Amino acid sequence: MLTRVIATLGLACAALSCAPEPPPYQRTIYTFGTLASISIYDQPHAEASAAADDIEQALARLNRDWYAWGPGELGELNRSLADKEVVDISLELGELIGQALEFGEASDGLFDPTLGSLVELWGFHDSADEASVAPRAADIRALTEAIPVRVELDSEGARVIASATGVVIDLGGIAKGAALAECQEILARHGVRRALIDLGGDILAMSPANSQPFEIGVQDPRGDGAVAVIAAGRGEAVVTSGDYERFYDQDDERYHHIIDPKTGYPTAATAAVTVIANDPVLADAAATALMVGGIAKFEELTTNLGVELATLITVDGAVVHTEGMQARLQWLDKIDGAGTD
Ligand code: AMP
Ligand code: MG
Repeated sequence: MLTRVIATLGLACAALSCAPEPPPYQRTIYTFGTLASISIYDQPHAEASAAADDIEQALARLNRDWYAWGPGELGELNRSLADKEVVDISLELGELIGQALEFGEASDGLFDPTLGSLVELWGFHDSADEASVAPRAADIRALTEAIPVRVELDSEGARVIASATGVVIDLGGIAKGAALAECQEILARHGVRRALIDLGGDILAMSPANSQPFEIGVQDPRGDGAVAVIAAGRGEAVVTSGDYERFYDQDDERYHHIIDPKTGYPTAATAAVTVIANDPVLADAAATALMVGGIAKFEELTTNLGVELATLITVDGAVVHTEGMQARLQWLDKIDGAGTD
């Protein structure tokens, strides 16, 4: 039987956070293909509501501009790149593409923002809730051989220069992290010091230095609820990538939205990765890259990407984490995370 499930699990995380008194201002919106929640603490509700308005507007704009197959700027760029190799873009988009290309280099191509055509072939480019079928091996091979397309930016970062036509730039592995960075700026502008923004598993935990951290649940990749609780705050991002976020099962195989650019197939061994970092963009890119690299590349990738706090759960339930992560994680009874680093 073929099923396609698109789950939004981030709210489970938010629900586990410690809410101090009085209760926060809360808003739930649909953005970046997921339910997102905004919780703002210690502010009069009128002010918190104004901050949430700005966040909602910014997220709508960024989702439009950074979605590879939409009407916004990245979609337009991709349509232009179908038959051109050099295209002008905004500095904002240029900066994000530049960051994505840097993560591509630092991860030795495991993170690859030029694999949009493969994401599309597998049917993970939109959130249509319909049955999908795995593509033909020959089609996968043809597209995999065509990537990575060499993409550069000009010196100002306002022009994309591709080495061939037809590249589809996909920033899906990094866009929510960049959106969280924007949320952080908006919150600071509104004088908010304590807030939790959850973009469906990409979380920003903003809190003053001397206050209690948030407790954020790590979603069980194979069941309901959490497998662990993470303490985070002071503007940290807690970003999870998982094979359960967007997938379909076919002939006992799970096909999900994170693709190994070297094989053209969804990664098979890793169920979920959670990264904590001060830079939400790094956390997002690293979580995706670590999903692709798996346990074998865990140490090398965390070192090369400069990630100090990360944990990875395999499809068999084995766990690996960086040294510092142990102190942040409290495992619940489902997985024995102790002593597995
Ligand atoms: P995330 O949930 O942050 O891990 O991002 C997953 C999304 O990133 C997918 O839906 C694709 O749009 C894109 N993606 C898939 N595989 C890769 C990869 N190897 N490198 C970069 N982006 C990817
Ligand atoms: Mg990511």
